[in-house]
Amino acid sequence: MSVIKHNWTKQEILDIYNLPLMDLLYKAATIHREYHDPNTVQVSTLLSIKTGGCPEDCGYCPQAARYHTDIEGNDLMSVQQVKAQALRAKSSGSSRVCMGAAWRNVKDGPEFENVLEMVRTINKLDMEVCCTLGMITENQAQRLAEAGLYAYNHNLDTSEEYYKEVISTRGYEDRLQTIDNVRKTNVTVCSGGIIGMGEEVEDRAGMLVALSKLNPQPESVPINALVAVEGTPMEDEKPVVIWDMIRMVATTRIIMPKTQVRLSAGRTEMSREGQAMCFFAGANSIFAGDKLLTTPNPDVSEDMEMFKMLGLNPQKPFVKKAQPETIEAKDSKYEPLGEKPKWSRPDHTIEKNETAKQKGKEVAAGK
Ligand code: SF4
Repeated sequence: MSVIKHNWTKQEILDIYNLPLMDLLYKAATIHREYHDPNTVQVSTLLSIKTGGCPEDCGYCPQAARYHTDIEGNDLMSVQQVKAQALRAKSSGSSRVCMGAAWRNVKDGPEFENVLEMVRTINKLDMEVCCTLGMITENQAQRLAEAGLYAYNHNLDTSEEYYKEVISTRGYEDRLQTIDNVRKTNVTVCSGGIIGMGEEVEDRAGMLVALSKLNPQPESVPINALVAVEGTPMEDEKPVVIWDMIRMVATTRIIMPKTQVRLSAGRTEMSREGQAMCFFAGANSIFAGDKLLTTPNPDVSEDMEMFKMLGLNPQKPFVKKAQPETIEAKDSKYEPLGEKPKWSRPDHTIEKNETAKQKGKEVAAGK
């Protein structure tokens, strides 16, 4: 089997990324077959349990309160609503539900208690449960683990250098700290990024260096293509060309052989042929459902039709790791600590973000 390396250099990764395409595909597909069944793809459903109103300034995100976009915000969904959606996802072939909340970080209190109950409820449906709730402490990660969480998503987004051009309200080290907190539990890590945000190919390689350094490497790495939403600082970015997506997927597969590489946002812009090449290049996970938090995504039935055409099978839950046990709240070993961790707030100025914020203010004031 190919060896799992944690000391890739940026240049080595660039050399792989820039291989002649046929060589790159062959190499990636060969490694893919050593570690995975090439005809099985994991299907996750992403559920926005709390949409919009986020205090952060991520330049790609329509949920940041400071930008004016036409997404409809909502308060935290109820456990019953989440259960109904999870059952629907299960019946349409998803093995995992990923719940996203537009928070900077998790705060102990009734809302987090509700999220814990959602995790217990979905795990009892024999589905893998993932959460993406922003930054979390070790205690919060342990409480999620006790509830039966299978995975925690926290993307690095891009390279450490380019991160400063995208977000000013928190630092790269905060991302790594949250991933580290999750790693202290038995919850698996899902962490990847977005291409098409105006970064250089070197930044894509830089992100892969950072992810591959993690030991163990993330069990799941989502590769998103930016969906440029009007009103956000990145509204004018050009769509990612399919060849870049294929190269990024193939390079990720080679650098992180054991990881499930997830085709995430931007699939609506990809043809079936393009997606098929991504699966050949080592992608073995997708998000299903007509919305990805707030941006469009192919319909589940379209995906199942594509699977049929390509002879792909949805992965059963808990194939890669056993189902976690759910511990009820009354039997919990961990008390909420009400911690107030000092997450960084670099607050440097990103011109694009400031311009979009100013526009947002003017629209809100009806100018
Ligand atoms: S990506 Fe997450 S943290 Fe950033 S603005 Fe959007 S919801 Fe908030």
